[in-house]
Amino acid sequence: VPALTIGLDMGGTKCAGVVLDEVAAVVDEHRAPTPAGTDAVLATLTTVAATLRDRAPGAVEAVGIGLPGLVSADGVLRFAPHLVDLFDVPVAAELTARLGCPVTVDNDATCATAAEWQLGAAAGARHAVLVTFGTGIGGGLVVDGALVRGGHGFAGEFGHMTVDPDGPPCVCGRRGCWEQYASGPALAESARARAGAGRLPGPLAAAGGDPGQLLGEHVTSAAAAGDADALRLVDEMARWIALGLANLTLALDPERFVLGGGVLEPPGVVVAPVARRLASALGRAGGHRPVPDVVAAALGARAGAIGAALLARAASVPPGESRR
Ligand SMILES: [Zn+2]
Repeated sequence: VPALTIGLDMGGTKCAGVVLDEVAAVVDEHRAPTPAGTDAVLATLTTVAATLRDRAPGAVEAVGIGLPGLVSADGVLRFAPHLVDLFDVPVAAELTARLGCPVTVDNDATCATAAEWQLGAAAGARHAVLVTFGTGIGGGLVVDGALVRGGHGFAGEFGHMTVDPDGPPCVCGRRGCWEQYASGPALAESARARAGAGRLPGPLAAAGGDPGQLLGEHVTSAAAAGDADALRLVDEMARWIALGLANLTLALDPERFVLGGGVLEPPGVVVAPVARRLASALGRAGGHRPVPDVVAAALGARAGAIGAALLARAASVPPGESRR
């Protein structure tokens, strides 16, 4: 009977769950919409995990959960700007009690970083930075061959680094955060402004003719098809992304950036212009130092759930033993 691990990834719109076997292959999946409010979120996490466990082909040893916010080392979700009304929720303790098995909880981007590092585009790197572009920006770090959570579990909150103190207000309560210039909502907003001025006919048609329904993915799809206006918007976003990556390079000197998230689909449309711009974003130093590689994430939308399961499994293995 195989020993299995469940991983859950609660995002702004859905809770995705996977079951991993002993060689980290996904053997089952289940998902549910993300509800509003603490009780409903805990109930959804419980239901998705229990559904996967009930139909699993073996014993489930541990459950790992990734959450979009500040998760402290004791498994408490302190603050989640993109979820409604969730503050100081003891998710690990609650789910351990409800499921009756070990439950670990981490930041969702930390989970995705663990997955990309063990199984995906960051494999083999000793110094790598993962940045995901979706509703907001998520970040994770591998430094000197170890996953970094910071002094309190909150490392990698790159999306809320200020790039313009006079910029628009952010959900975090500050202004001009990086994610307001490089995210799905940011790209959609520039597209709406452009469409209102009579441009972007292709993406606008894909959005049913209503500028209010334009999404970032309408723009990236059109850019992939060669639409000149869409390419211009994507290049503008690539400039902001390269600026943020240059700042991270100055702080961390990584070998590799792994870029993921829904806004970067289809792969290459955004990653290629970012990679082209990174050396010049580093200024004169760009010609005198190794410029980090910029590559697309490999595991897609399941990275967070897979990584949550990997971290739960690592936590359940006694020290000195390794199943990697
Ligand atoms: Zn912010």
